[in-house]
Amino acid sequence: MSHASPVWHPFTQHAVQGDTPTIVHSEGAWLQADDGRRIFDAISSWWVVTHGHRHPTIISAIKQQSDQLDQIIFAGFTHPPAEQLAQRLVEITPPELTHVFFSDSGSTSVEVGLKMALGYWLHSGESRRRILALEGAYHGDTIGGMSVGERGVFNAPYDPLLFDVSRLPFPRAGAEQATLDALEQACRNEAVAALIVEPLVLGAGGMLIYPPWVLAEMARICKAHGLLLIADEVMTGWGRTGTLFACEQANVVPDIACYSKGLTGGSVPLAVTMCRREIFDAHFSTDRRKTFFHSSSYTANPIACAAALANLQVWASEPVRQRIDDLAAVHARALNRFRDDARFSNVRQIGTIAAVDLQVGDSGYLADVGPRLYAYFINRGLLVRPLGNTIYLMPPYCSTAVEIEAVYEAIAAVPEVLARGSDAG
Ligand SMILES: *Cc1c(COP(=O)(O)O)cnc(C)c1O
Repeated sequence: MSHASPVWHPFTQHAVQGDTPTIVHSEGAWLQADDGRRIFDAISSWWVVTHGHRHPTIISAIKQQSDQLDQIIFAGFTHPPAEQLAQRLVEITPPELTHVFFSDSGSTSVEVGLKMALGYWLHSGESRRRILALEGAYHGDTIGGMSVGERGVFNAPYDPLLFDVSRLPFPRAGAEQATLDALEQACRNEAVAALIVEPLVLGAGGMLIYPPWVLAEMARICKAHGLLLIADEVMTGWGRTGTLFACEQANVVPDIACYSKGLTGGSVPLAVTMCRREIFDAHFSTDRRKTFFHSSSYTANPIACAAALANLQVWASEPVRQRIDDLAAVHARALNRFRDDARFSNVRQIGTIAAVDLQVGDSGYLADVGPRLYAYFINRGLLVRPLGNTIYLMPPYCSTAVEIEAVYEAIAAVPEVLARGSDAG
C-alpha cells in the first residue's frame, strides 16, 4: 500500500493503515471530512477535547490574545495570561500546590515532574534516586515518560535510552494489598525519590480502573516513607473521572501534579506541572547550580494560556459538572446491556470514561482485532480507537445521549461483523 503524502503519522503503521480521512472542520463532538463525511469523535480526539471542539469562549479568547501578544521568552519575562492562569490554577487545586511550571505537552509535564523530584532530593542533600511506577502505566513518549511507563513493543527499540525503575503490580480488584505491600517493600529496600501514578485509571494501559482507597493508601505510604508522590493527571484531569481531578476522589494531595490535555479544553497545546512549596524552595538558592534547568521554547505561550483561562471560565460559568454527571449516567445505563453478555468482559466505568473488553482469541495491543474494530467503527462514522480488544468511549462533554447510545449500538453489533470477517477495511 503506497502512501502519497510526506506526512508520517503518530502510532500509525503506514503499511497497513487504511483510508486516512482529511478533516477540514470540527464542531462540538463532530469532525467533518473533505468528502463531506461526518464522524462522531467518541474519544475526544485522543482524550484532549473536553467541552467539545471549537468551544466559542475558548476560540474567542485565542483570537483576542493573538491580537495582543504572540510567543515571548519566559525566562526573565512574564505576561498577564501566564500570571492569571497560574493564579487561577493555584486557586482551584489544593492549597498545598503553590507553584506552577509551564510546558507544552503531557510528556513534557511528566519529564518536568521527574526532574523536580530528583532536583528536590539532590538539593536537599538526601541521596534518593529511585523512581517507582505502576505496571501497565503510560506517561508519554519522551525518554523519561517511556522509562516510567510499561515496557513493551512500543518502546523496545529505545530500551538502551531508558532508565531503570521499580514496578508495583497494578492494583487488580481483590489483589490491591499486593500493590501496597510492594510499595512498602520498595520503600524499605531502596532510596526511593518518588512514586509516579495515573490516579484511579491507567489510560493507554487499557482503561484499567482502581479504587480511590488504594490511591489514598499509596499516598499514605509515600508520606510515611518520605518519598514524593507524582500524580500524572494528564488524562484524568479536567473532569474525565467525574471530579475536576481524580485525586480529589481519594482526598489525596500529591507533591507534584501534571496537567495537560483538557487544560485548554483541548484547543491548543499547553501543560503545567504544579508542586508543593518545599520543592520550589529546594531549588531556591543563591547557588545558581540549584536552578531548575528546564525550558521548552514555547513555555507559557500566551495564546495557549489565554485558551486555558477561557477553559476555566467555561468551567465556572457553564453547567460542566452537570454535563459530566449526565454523560456518566448515559454510560452507566448503556453499559448494563453488556454486563451479562458473554461476548464482553470487564465492563467498567469511571465518570465519562467507559470500557468493555471484547472476548477474542488473540488479545493485546497488536492483536488484529484492534485495527479491524477501528475500521468497523470508522465505516459507521464513529471515531473509536480500541486498545487491542478493549473498546472504550471517552467523548466530549457536549455529546448527547442519542449520540452516545448510537456508539453503544455499534459496539453491541460488533462481534457478528468480526466473525464474518468482512468490513475490516
Ligand atoms: C497522553 C498522556 C501523556 C502524554 O501526553 P502528551 O501530551 O501526548 O505528551 C502522559 N501521561 C498520561 C497519563 C497520558 O494519558
